[in-house]
Amino acid sequence: MTMDQPELHSNISQVRERLSNAAKRANRPASDIRLIAVSKTKPFEAIRYAFAAGITDFGENYVAEGVEKRRLCSDLDITWHFLGPVQSNKTRHIAENFDWIHSIDRLKTASRLNAQRPVDKAPLNVCLQVNIPYEETKSGLTTTSELVELASAIQQLERLSLRGIMAIPPPCADPHLQREQFKLIASLLNTDGLPNHVDELSMGMSGDMEAAIAEGSTMVRIGTDIFGARYT
Ligand SMILES: *Cc1c(COP(=O)(O)O)cnc(C)c1O
Repeated sequence: MTMDQPELHSNISQVRERLSNAAKRANRPASDIRLIAVSKTKPFEAIRYAFAAGITDFGENYVAEGVEKRRLCSDLDITWHFLGPVQSNKTRHIAENFDWIHSIDRLKTASRLNAQRPVDKAPLNVCLQVNIPYEETKSGLTTTSELVELASAIQQLERLSLRGIMAIPPPCADPHLQREQFKLIASLLNTDGLPNHVDELSMGMSGDMEAAIAEGSTMVRIGTDIFGARYT
C-alpha cells in the first residue's frame, strides 16, 4: 500500500525538523547533513512524492529494484545511493545507475565497479562499510588495519572516489549507548593511514538519527520515518 501524499509530506517535515534540531544541539549547520530517503520496497510513486517535497537523495538496497525505480524517475534530478550487500554479478548495474555506494567491504567488488563505471559519468562515490563494534550477522570491515588496507587500494582506482565510512550499529533504545557506538565509528576517520579527505560519515537511521548527528554524521539514511513501515 502506498502512503498518501499529505502523510508523506508531514513525515518528511518531521524528519527535517528532527535533523535541524539535532544539528542545532550539536552546533552544526543542518546543511552539513545529507538526508537520504531510503525507499527500498516502496513504489516509485513514493519517490516522486518525496522528490516533490524537496528530497533529492534516495537510497536503495536491491539492485534490480533500484535500477527499475531510477528508470521510472529518470526525469528527476536525483542522487542515487546504493546501500545493500553487493553481489559480484550485480556490480555493472550499480556502476551504471548509482552515484554513491555505501557498502563496500571488499577489493574485489571495488575493482569491478571501477572497471565498469561508465566514462561519461563522474567517479562513483564510495563509503567503506565497517562492522565495528563487531556483530556476527553483519558485513563490513572488522579492524582498522583492514580499513586502512582497503582504503589504500581503493585510492588507486581512478573511477572510484573514496569519501567515507558507513556503519549500521546494532539497534538500541538508549540514546547514551547509541552515542557511544557512533562516537567509536566516527573516531575511525582519524585512523592513521586513512587519507584526510575521507571525511563522510554515513550513520543514523530512523531510530537513532539524533545520536548519529550528535557524533558527526554527515549522511543519515531514513526509511521507516519517511515512508512508513516495510512489510516485505
Ligand atoms: C533499510 C535501511 C535503512 C533505513 O532504516 P530505517 O530504520 O527504516 O530508517 C538505512 N540504512 C540501511 C543500510 C538500510 O538497509
